[in-house]
Amino acid sequence: MEHIEQTLQEIYKESQVQDKIGSIATYIPELATVNPDSFGISLTTIQGKNFGIGDSEVRFSIQSVSKPLSLAFAFTILGDTIWERVGVEPSGTPFNSLVQLEFEKGIPRNPFINAGAIVIADMIVSSFENPKQEFLDFVRKISGIPTIDFDLKVAQSEKKEGCRNTALANFIKSFGNLKNDVDLVLDFYFHQCSITMSCHELTKAFYFLANEGVSMSGMQVLDKSQVKRMNALMQTCGFYDESGEFTYRVGLPGKSGVGGGIVALFPKEFIVSTWSPRLNSNGNSELGMFALEQLTTKTGMSIF
Ligand code: GLN
Repeated sequence: MEHIEQTLQEIYKESQVQDKIGSIATYIPELATVNPDSFGISLTTIQGKNFGIGDSEVRFSIQSVSKPLSLAFAFTILGDTIWERVGVEPSGTPFNSLVQLEFEKGIPRNPFINAGAIVIADMIVSSFENPKQEFLDFVRKISGIPTIDFDLKVAQSEKKEGCRNTALANFIKSFGNLKNDVDLVLDFYFHQCSITMSCHELTKAFYFLANEGVSMSGMQVLDKSQVKRMNALMQTCGFYDESGEFTYRVGLPGKSGVGGGIVALFPKEFIVSTWSPRLNSNGNSELGMFALEQLTTKTGMSIF
C-alpha cells in the first residue's frame, strides 16, 4: 500500500485518456440526467486513512451497490434462515432476468440479482413497521454518516418504469416466495436502490466487510463467519454474468450498480470505490472496472 496516492493519480490520468466506451443507464429516466463523464476513485485503508481523486466526494445513485447492505441488514435480523428463500450460486444471467426463476420455482439464484434482492426486501418489509426508515438508519449507523438519504425522484422514476421488477416480484409471489404485497416490497426495493452516496462514503459503509464485521464506528455488524459468506457472494455474484470477468481482471470481492458505482475490498487491507456512469452491456461501469484492474495490477493487491 505504499505510494497509494501516486498510484491513484496514475490510474486517474490513464482513465481520462481511455475511449469513452459504454452508455449511461436510461431505463430509469432520472439516472439519465447525470454527467456521463463524472469519474471518481476513493480508497480507505483498514487504519482509516482515505485517498480520493476526481469526483470522489460527489453523491450518485448507488442502485445495486445497496444490495450487499440490504443483505447484511437481513442477515443481522434473520441469520441463516435467509438461505431457505434465496440461493448462493452465480446466475450467469443479466441482473433483471426472469428465465431461471421458472425452473427454480421462485427461489432466486443469489441475493444480488434483482430477483434475489426483491426477496431480501420482502424479508425486511416483514420484519418492521417502518422498514425504509429502519434500513436507512442501518446504513447511516454502519457508515457513521447521518445525512445519507433516499433520492425520492429516482425512486419515483424507477417505480414508473419498473415493469421488469414488477414482473419479477409477481412471478416470485406466484411461487409463494414473496409474503407481502408486491407494491409494498417494490416500494422498499426502489427506495433502497435510490440511496445517494459518494465513493468516499461507500468505502466507509463497506468498511465492516473488510474488518471482520466491525464498522468504522466500532459496531459489530456481522460476525466473522457471516462476513466470509458476504464477501464470497460478492466475489462470485457481484457483477451478474460478468462476475467471472471481474474476478479475473480485478481479483477482489465487489459489487456494481447501474448508477455507475463499484465497491470492492481487500479483507483487512482496504475498501475502494469508483464511479463512472458509462456502463458496458452487462450493466457494469466500464471505466470503473478498468481503474480497479489497474489498481490491483499495479499494486499486486488482489486476493488471488
Ligand atoms: N434499481 C435497479 C433495477 O432494479 C438496480 C439494477 C442495478 O443496479 N444493476 O433495475
